[in-house]
Amino acid sequence: MKIICIGRNYAAHAKELKNEVPTEPVVFCKPDSALLQKGKPFFYPNFSKDVHHELELVIRIKRIGKHIAPKHALSYIGEVTLGIDFTARDLQQQLKQKGLPWEKAKGFDGSAPIGSFIPFKPLADKINFLTLSLSKNGKTVQQGSTADMLFPVAEIIAYVSTFYTLKIGDLIFTGTPQGVGPVEIGDNLEGFLEGEKLLSVPVR
Ligand code: ZN
Repeated sequence: MKIICIGRNYAAHAKELKNEVPTEPVVFCKPDSALLQKGKPFFYPNFSKDVHHELELVIRIKRIGKHIAPKHALSYIGEVTLGIDFTARDLQQQLKQKGLPWEKAKGFDGSAPIGSFIPFKPLADKINFLTLSLSKNGKTVQQGSTADMLFPVAEIIAYVSTFYTLKIGDLIFTGTPQGVGPVEIGDNLEGFLEGEKLLSVPVR
């Protein structure tokens, strides 16, 4: 199983980090040891003082595919959920400044919590109009709609499948809307898709 992530997929988020708005998807991967199954606590890593939450729609692939055409791409999705692309922003910043890969800042243990999966089929017609939001200690901190994605889900699947063969169970994190920010030990994060709570992550 692999975890593929899309960066800067919402223009407003790219701007809040003072990044350029990309002309093609920004792609990176997290190792499977980054995965944090539903409800498990996230342990704040000692190598960072500035871990940020990035709430993202996550899709799970249900069949093998390579060079997938955009018009067929949605038929590769089995389920969806929400996930957090935890990012050690201070470490990422240092690595970016040196022009080095920022993999460590994104792929460390526990950096990819996911929530409960729900079937994709009932959502298929509104995949480009899904609302997602994240609350921290009961207060909404991130809110977005897949309508604001620079590269919609079907295009993402098609694009990544030109580089990586997609396999059953692979996860794709589809990018974060604006409002990313720091977490602290003791925080409780909850993610909502179309108003339904799918994700809960205590920070320890
Ligand atoms: Zn992200």
